[in-house]
This record gives sequence, C-alpha cells and structure tokens, in this order.
Amino acid sequence: MSRVKLLGYEIDTFTFDGAVERALELEKEDKVSQVVTINPEMFDCAKTDSEFAEILNNSEMVIPDGVGVKIGLKILGESVDRIAGIDFARRMLELSAQNNLPVAIIGAKPEVINLAGENLKKEIENLNIVYSQDGYFQDDERVLQELAEAKPRLVLVALGSPKQEKFIKKARNILPYGLMVGVGGSFDVWSGTVERAPEIYQKLGIEWLYRTVKQPERFKRIFPTLPLFVLRVTKEKLFK
Ligand code: UDP
Repeated sequence: MSRVKLLGYEIDTFTFDGAVERALELEKEDKVSQVVTINPEMFDCAKTDSEFAEILNNSEMVIPDGVGVKIGLKILGESVDRIAGIDFARRMLELSAQNNLPVAIIGAKPEVINLAGENLKKEIENLNIVYSQDGYFQDDERVLQELAEAKPRLVLVALGSPKQEKFIKKARNILPYGLMVGVGGSFDVWSGTVERAPEIYQKLGIEWLYRTVKQPERFKRIFPTLPLFVLRVTKEKLFK
C-alpha cells in the first residue's frame, strides 16, 4: 500500500482488491475509520472549505474515484486503478455479509433508501442491515445517537459531497467503531431509480460523460472542473 501526494493531499494507490482488503481490516478494528472516494470536484471544494480539507488529511483511506484523479496521478507519473466508489461500496456490502458484520445505510430520498435496502437484501445473501435512514433529516444528533445504538460495522452515507464527509466526521466522536464511506448517488442506482452508465462507459472510465449527456444540467458542474484540475496538476508538476 502506498500513498501519492496530489495537489497537497495524500491519495492511496491501491488496486481494487487491495483497497477492499484494507477496508475490511479497518472495518474489524475497534475504532471509526473514514473512506473518501475522491474526484476533481472535491479538490476544488477543499480549496475553499478548510473543514473539508482537514477531513481529507485525516481520513484513513482516500481513493481515486473519478477518471480525472487517475489522469492527475498519471501526469505525476503514477499509474493507478480507478476505483469506482459504487463498486467499492457494493463489494464492502458483500464482504460484510460474508463476515457477519452488521451494516447501516443512510441517505437519499425516503422511497429510494427503502427500495435500495430491499434490493440489496434480496441480492446479497446474509446481508444484515441494522439501520436505515433517508438523507433528508434535520437533526444530526438523533441519527448519530440511533447509529451508536445500532452499532454497525459498515456505514454507507449518501448525502452528496461534502455533506456526507462532514456527517461522517461528526460520527467519529460518537460511534464506538465502524468503517464509514461516503457513497454519493449509489442508493439511487441500487434502488433502480437512476440507471448506471452502460458497461463500456464504466470500463473506459467515462461514466461522467454518459451522466452528463443524460442530465445536461450536470455539464455546468463538471465542465470547467476537469480541465482546470488537469491544469492545476500540470502546474504543480512543472513548478514543484
Ligand atoms: N442527498 C441526501 N440529502 C441531502 C442531499 C443529497 O440524501 O441533503 C442524496 C441525494 O438524494 C442522492 C445523493 O445524496 O441520493 C447524492 O446526491 P448528489 O447527486 O447531489 O451528489 P453527488 O454524488 O453528485 O456528489
């Protein structure tokens, strides 16, 4: 396992299998661990949000999700696997079921999280969901208290970024243990509400392109981010 510094943040350069193996070890430890699956937008966010920057510095695992981060690392001469957050989270659910480790799912709209929970239980044998909560709650303290009582070993949180990472940070002081992962739009996909990009897009690492064509309003969000990110990394390499 090794880490590479990208725009000031340490990124883990695991293979997919290496990442899940490490995550399972952390899941079994008697402390809370945080996994961030990072994309170029999140580097932008860290520039202006010091709390989020601190979270990136203090997370046990920061793994490259977007193809942008893979390109960024390539510019620095590092070849890494891109680990799609949704695939990583799914594998962690399967491993948790196999190891009899209880899980919690938090986030998305009420009907979405319910459907996602039902589908996951049907699809993953022995999956033990001890807590499920939609992502539109006002009272963090209540949810954290309920989580602490449910004592899950794996907690998947989908509130969008950086909200999900900040919620996980709060949970660190309250839960006894557990691996906590921010999973963005994963429940929308698992519920069947949002379609994932066809496999060819996944293989090429251009799911973002498919999503942008399907939801053109994402274009504004993604378009300036990726070229500017590549520019920042190139500058860092040239002027280091
Ligand atoms: N979401 C939520 N609570 C919020 C905001 C968002 O539960 O206050 C959910 C939303 O329903 C979706 C997920 O977070 O399931 C990811 O949201 P979005 O697509 O905006 O985030 P991204 O993954 O693009 O960062």
